[in-house]
Amino acid sequence: MAILTMAGILDARPRVGYFYTGKTTMQAIGESIKNKRVKDYKSVPILVKENTSVYDAICTMFLEDVGTLFVVNEQNDLVGVVSRKDLLRSAIGKQNLEDVPVSIIMTRMPNIILTYPDETLHEAASKLIRYQIDALPVVRPKQGKDGSQTETKYEIIGRITKTTITRAYVDLGNEEL
Ligand code: ADP
Repeated sequence: MAILTMAGILDARPRVGYFYTGKTTMQAIGESIKNKRVKDYKSVPILVKENTSVYDAICTMFLEDVGTLFVVNEQNDLVGVVSRKDLLRSAIGKQNLEDVPVSIIMTRMPNIILTYPDETLHEAASKLIRYQIDALPVVRPKQGKDGSQTETKYEIIGRITKTTITRAYVDLGNEEL
């Protein structure tokens, strides 16, 4: 009974008993996947300012042990994304990496693929696959001074990566044990 309840096939009501939910195991797994939200799985985003040098960005990537850095302006609005390959590509050239700001090599707004706290992890994972990228910034639109939402300005409140999705996958496997 306990196993069938955990699998979502039976529902347990205290002092009433067990009843059949009518869900197949696959439906229950699907529901569990769709219930996982970005806000419950997001990790800490690593940010650099747009005038940070490529050299310092490489150091930050090593020190923070991440594969993607998010770039912000003085107001902390999201302006860009820098990945490992972006940094490698710029290191192939002959420029002095201490003289090149990340703003020159980053992928910039409005071309950044975003995710939101209330989006499902499944939607975020689909974006990683569809756009062939490793990470998404979790953002909140910034309110304008008059209370209106400015579409292009976002505050970064987290990060979703392929590792996040792997962790959720492991959790899902443990739920079904
Ligand atoms: P890697 O460079 O390690 O393969 P990615 O696959 O994430 O890492 O990056 C591939 C390209 O996509 C890079 O040029 C990077 O700037 C860009 N990129 C990474 N994340 C995003 C994102 N969330 N939105 C838009 N472009 C991105």
